Amino acid sequence: MDGKLVIVAGPSGSGKTTIVRHLLGVYPRLAFSISACSRQKRMGEMDGEDYYFLSVEQFKEKIEKGEFLEWEEVYPGSYYGTLRSEVERLWQADRDVIFDIDVKGAMNLKKHYPENSLSIFIQPPSLDALEQRLKNRKTETAEFFEQRIKKATEELSYASQFDTIIQNNDLHVAFAEADKLVGAFL
Ligand code: 5GP
Repeated sequence: MDGKLVIVAGPSGSGKTTIVRHLLGVYPRLAFSISACSRQKRMGEMDGEDYYFLSVEQFKEKIEKGEFLEWEEVYPGSYYGTLRSEVERLWQADRDVIFDIDVKGAMNLKKHYPENSLSIFIQPPSLDALEQRLKNRKTETAEFFEQRIKKATEELSYASQFDTIIQNNDLHVAFAEADKLVGAFL
């Protein structure tokens, strides 16, 4: 039987990953959907834990076989997607699933499961604040940084299409709001 989906999206640097980790700690029913991706593994990341790391060829093969519920070329040459098998695995274990994905992927997932999903957009305080957060993160080269800012600007325009928006000016306030929303939904 289908479980529930909590779909969290927002620009890179909005704090969505931090909010997803927080929710996982608060609600033991939730399990994280491990996405597949074709980008390089970052330091400290583990295959099968952070992502299923695939080559572009492996990723494309899975697209052709129809193994993805949704997928996007999030950055040029970098593919990300949600595997049907991942969501089914977690539902079979009687868990509800939480996703940390890009805005287009979020809307596509919502279309598959309109009744049992809650889509949450994490709104960063401003584009300036976002740039600062991404700079502080220091995981990206200048070229990737530019890509992320460009994408963030585009992503901000999708906010109104989500079920709900959490304004992340203060992380503790955002946590409390996320707890309330997700608690009511589950
Ligand atoms: P990162 O490279 O920083 O881990 O992730 C880059 C972007 O890809 C983030 O916005 C992240 O949420 C998004 N992303 C991660 N997994 C998926 C997925 O399965 N599908 C889609 N559409 N986007 C994803």
